[in-house]
Amino acid sequence: MTITYQVKSAVYVNLTNRCPCSCTFCLRQNGPSVYGSNSLWLEREPSIEEVIASLGKWDYSVFHEVVYCGYGEPTERLDVLLASAKWLKEHHPDIHVRVNTNGLADLIAGEPTEARFAGLVDTLSISLNTSDPEEYLAVCRPKFGAAAYPAMLHFAETAKQYVPEVVMTIVSEPVTTPEVQAKCRAICERLGVRLRIRRYESK
Ligand code: SF4
Repeated sequence: MTITYQVKSAVYVNLTNRCPCSCTFCLRQNGPSVYGSNSLWLEREPSIEEVIASLGKWDYSVFHEVVYCGYGEPTERLDVLLASAKWLKEHHPDIHVRVNTNGLADLIAGEPTEARFAGLVDTLSISLNTSDPEEYLAVCRPKFGAAAYPAMLHFAETAKQYVPEVVMTIVSEPVTTPEVQAKCRAICERLGVRLRIRRYESK
């Protein structure tokens, strides 16, 4: 099963297929893999030993970044994520560690999680998706309901105390309008985090 895989010059980590959301645009609906990887559907969730063994097979003189992403929400396995990031920091201290997340770690864990990322994760990339809580609910369909959008914003704002770079992402036109992009930019300015508008890629 595919625990780690290559995307351009980064090593991506696939910890779980679980996710509290069911986004209408989720890539998982398009097929079992991305960027030529083998299937990202896991037979079972890998142990910490298996994750470290898989991370350890890459040549980090070639790869500059490890990204926790995969076919699920990586913070569903926060203990394994952080333990393997700790291994990376101890064995490959120059490697940049990023987590691509829906920002719902606190709701998943049922407690604040932001401080746990300190010293282990360099960038949190959080999917903002939209400026409108109602639209977020309709598009991301989180199992936490209306609590999800404000919890995601709170996670971003709080995490910046512990993580050097917190980025919130949306997709460019036609997924978002310039008006929505401006509102998202205002949200990020208020939270003190950076907005990244990802280029829309039609299939
Ligand atoms: S949060 Fe990510 S993994 Fe989860 S459903 Fe949405 S796009 Fe898919």
